[in-house]
Amino acid sequence: MINQQRLSEEFVRLAAINSPPLKESAIASYLIKRLECLGAEIRFDNAAATTGGEVGNLVATLPGTGKATEPLLFSVHMDTVEPGGQVEPVLRDGVFSSAGDTVLGADDKAGIAELLEALEVVREQNIAHGPIEVVVTIAEEIGLVGAKHFDYSMVTARRGYALDTEGVDKMVLQAPGANHLQIDIEGLASHAGMAPELGVSAIQTAALAISQMRLGRIDFETTANIGRIEGGVARNIVPQNLSIIGEARSHNAQKLQEQTDHMLACFEEAAQQMARNINGQLVRPQIKANVLSDFPSMSVAEDAPVVKLARTAAATAGHDLNVRLGGGGSDANIFNAHGIEMIILATGMKRVHTHDESVAVADMVHVTELLIEIIRQA
Ligand SMILES: [Zn+2]
Repeated sequence: MINQQRLSEEFVRLAAINSPPLKESAIASYLIKRLECLGAEIRFDNAAATTGGEVGNLVATLPGTGKATEPLLFSVHMDTVEPGGQVEPVLRDGVFSSAGDTVLGADDKAGIAELLEALEVVREQNIAHGPIEVVVTIAEEIGLVGAKHFDYSMVTARRGYALDTEGVDKMVLQAPGANHLQIDIEGLASHAGMAPELGVSAIQTAALAISQMRLGRIDFETTANIGRIEGGVARNIVPQNLSIIGEARSHNAQKLQEQTDHMLACFEEAAQQMARNINGQLVRPQIKANVLSDFPSMSVAEDAPVVKLARTAAATAGHDLNVRLGGGGSDANIFNAHGIEMIILATGMKRVHTHDESVAVADMVHVTELLIEIIRQA
């Protein structure tokens, strides 16, 4: 039923199109043609203007045929991480990898190729199905930018699947949310040799704060990190300014808040401890904290309809689908936050975001089988 040759060729064509984030016009043009051939109506949202990208998010709508079920949504992303450039996919022993110094871009082109092949088969075999909506987002790899700017009024589906995680027979129901922390410390500069007592060190303040901070793995679902510190001017100057960036992640929204608050409190306490009287005035380092919610956590219940549908479809296809805990943010976090119940399905891709990225043709066929069954049974 699945045309393995067609699926392989589709993947090769997709991989060969350079598609860095916000520079997706070439791949978008290609996808318009392919999806129109499959009978889809294509629209773009306004995200090109709001993100500065070449194109917006693509929405393809396929009407139902012989079945009036609730619409079903599939989400994939059209951009790939750098270094992209001219990707040369090579097939060796049934496994695609990149010939040159580029990623393969199986993230997320394996998912796109599988979805296109599933839609081809559904059409060829006249498989009755309900309405299907496909969203191909832009700029996923630089912070879910497309999904964050997506015009959600363009889709009606309230359930769906994102094809965007590693491995085979895996589904992700839960993924953490994250906060970005930007901390600016302002102390007081002074000559470090002649008048250190007239200065307040921003570096010392940071050191004090970070030494008291819970970092790394906080618990099974929460992590935290200080990722970069920048500041100071010279060896002999008490440093006045320091910038710090860090993050906290958790599957649990309350724990995310608690960890974020804890990190901020450490800076405030350190500032309090570093406060000193200089020339009759109390000088306290100033802490300017900026917390940005990078993405919300997602959590789809085990007994949610999308999970049950995936399980029964997998059982029909003879697959053994397992749940894996997500570790990062993906478009599905944002879709869920907009009221679309969405889980993430593995696409067969491996070692993504490295030069050793690969995907096996057999695994792409395997995933396509699942997609066809999901569409049939939706
Ligand atoms: Zn991806």
